[in-house]
Amino acid sequence: MPVDLHVHTTASDGSVTPEEVVKQALHLGLEAVAITDHDTIEGIEPALNAARPAGLEVIPGVELSTVYQDRQVHILGYFVDLHELDFLAQLTFLRSTRLERISRMVQKLKEMGFAITMGQVLAISGSGSVGRPHVARALIELGSVRTIADAFEKYIGKGCPAYVPRFKYAPAMAVRMIRAAGGVPVLAHPGISNCYDLLPGLVAEGLLGLEAYYPGHTWELTACYCRQARDMGLFVTGGSDYHGPGHKDGGQLGAVTVPYKVVEEMKKCGKRGVPGGRNEKGRAD
Ligand code: AMP
Ligand code: ZN
Ligand code: FE
Ligand code: FE
Repeated sequence: MPVDLHVHTTASDGSVTPEEVVKQALHLGLEAVAITDHDTIEGIEPALNAARPAGLEVIPGVELSTVYQDRQVHILGYFVDLHELDFLAQLTFLRSTRLERISRMVQKLKEMGFAITMGQVLAISGSGSVGRPHVARALIELGSVRTIADAFEKYIGKGCPAYVPRFKYAPAMAVRMIRAAGGVPVLAHPGISNCYDLLPGLVAEGLLGLEAYYPGHTWELTACYCRQARDMGLFVTGGSDYHGPGHKDGGQLGAVTVPYKVVEEMKKCGKRGVPGGRNEKGRAD
């Protein structure tokens, strides 16, 4: 039975609630779905509650944006201990840097003459991870732009007048954070991030998986990643990166799936990440 291991919700920059994701996943006949919001685990519990009575499995996940030499590298983390206080504190810190960055962007937009307020942006984002898509939606509400793409192109995209960069850890730090919380770190969409060369270094830090199956990956790329993952003793994962209809990133829910066996293998890692048949660095023994 198929599982989609990369899904966003309204807890971060998705436009679909966790409950609605569960409903759609059931409709599609998925066996499990991983909720992998940016810098927050807030969407997981509502998804678990909605999925439990229906017999759908929700896999706890998170996606951390990192940067290495100007390259945007995303690290997914599965099965982190949701009660690990250090990890939760680090997510809280990342969300606070998001908040500060967005409030600086809102200030810039105000100075440019827009009637936007932080209250309006936060009413749109809710209590999860605030980001530029929420600013874009505020600008649409105000009638200042027609579409999200317009907002990015004119005002909030990189290099635009209201743009402020966001704080990001290095990829190795994200891998260590996830491992320290007993989770399984996976390099997300390597084909999009152009970060293939970082793989050996990240494996040495404790990376355990590679997201070979992804909407933007060609079959050739996918085959190459599968081979590389096998050679390095990494899990081969995949998912749609669903954010809701019409979002720039990812595909439809369930557009990319992997067999449930991958989940079983990840679960065998257990707390503190000692995978069956792998040494503590994640390589096959
Ligand atoms: P942030 O994390 O606040 O920097 O925002 C990242 C989010 O903005 C992701 O959901 C991206 O898909 C979205 N995004 C980035 N660039 C664009 C764009 N040009 N048009 C629409 N959405 C974008
Ligand atoms: Zn996203
Ligand atoms: Fe990503
Ligand atoms: Fe994602």
